[in-house]
Amino acid sequence: MARETASEQLVRPLVRALQPYVPGEQPRAKGLIKLNTNENPYPPSPRVLEAVRAAVDGRLRLYPDPTAERLRQKLAHLHNCDPDQILVGNGADEILRLAVHTFVEPLAAQRGPLSRRYFVPPAPATVQSFVPSYSLYPVLAAQHGAAFNPVPLQMEFALPDAGQLKHLKQWQPQAALTIITTPNAPSGRGYTRREIEAICTRTKGVVLLDETYAEFAPEHAMELALKHPHVMVCRSFSKAYSLCFLRIGYAVGPRALIQAMHKLRDSYNVNGLAQVAAEATLDDPAYYRENFRKIAETREWTSDQLRRLGFLVLPSQTNFVLARPPGPPASEWFRRLRENNILVRWFDTPDLAAYLRISIGTPGDMETLVRVAKRLLKSTA
Ligand SMILES: *Cc1c(COP(=O)(O)O)cnc(C)c1O
Repeated sequence: MARETASEQLVRPLVRALQPYVPGEQPRAKGLIKLNTNENPYPPSPRVLEAVRAAVDGRLRLYPDPTAERLRQKLAHLHNCDPDQILVGNGADEILRLAVHTFVEPLAAQRGPLSRRYFVPPAPATVQSFVPSYSLYPVLAAQHGAAFNPVPLQMEFALPDAGQLKHLKQWQPQAALTIITTPNAPSGRGYTRREIEAICTRTKGVVLLDETYAEFAPEHAMELALKHPHVMVCRSFSKAYSLCFLRIGYAVGPRALIQAMHKLRDSYNVNGLAQVAAEATLDDPAYYRENFRKIAETREWTSDQLRRLGFLVLPSQTNFVLARPPGPPASEWFRRLRENNILVRWFDTPDLAAYLRISIGTPGDMETLVRVAKRLLKSTA
């Protein structure tokens, strides 16, 4: 015990006090319908699997390309920009972390708890995002020793317009980094390029548009990252391109911002198999377009079915829906669905506790969900 305490003393106070991010569960149990982490229900393209298999040989002993140059060239071609405007990361999560480390100052260390009460965090040390959104953002700020400023979304998870923004006391136009999740998670709500640009033009610090779900939406805002000196976009191969397992994401933005982030990443931050898989992914856009179409169709079918059962289902432009179930509390629904081998996500926070976030699976998965939901409703009626 004494030895453990002596060891603990060696850990920085900030790290000792840190509340780590809690990822969605990855259960081992077989036969579970897994609708809790927004994974894509369809496998990667056969061409991607082929390319990865072909890369598994004695070359695994070599280091991968440190800058993922071929992949950056392909992405540059896709987005009509220069390869120096692209940074590839170990998932979009790494891009988010690099952005915090590159643009945000840590608060001065050793501030006592007393001073905290009166302490308004200075803008250079502030990460802000609209809430609710991805719960990793405040954790990244805390890990870096920076402040997090949560700005509430409007009714039905809308972004504030210019007039509303002016009256939002919580909003800090000077915050060093503002992250906008678009489409929003966990609500699934999509935003137009115009609404996003209205916020960007009223922001002085860096704006990072987290477009992890953009491929499922009718509109994206990539052009803002190619137009404004303070705007960047991050994307992921996890959700739309079925590559969660390989961890690959990227940022697009002004050269000076991207080059600054490169200085802080690990030299070999993206593993070789992930680079191979991502390149092959970009060579087969037709396969993925068809997946996006099927997922949108299944999402609309599921939303319609759940609404008929009395769920309030928010319109979604992503591969998940946020739904407020009828009858028993959402936490109870979560538990009962789980007993029936269906895993969804429930967030124990005041603004989300009434909802379930349900990833869109195959049509068969969603038929099972609807059938089980019907049965549970009957048994509680
Ligand atoms: C899943 C998710 C990410 C992380 O994506 P990875 O590329 O798997 O790291 C980032 N932002 C949002 C909003 C997400 O839902």
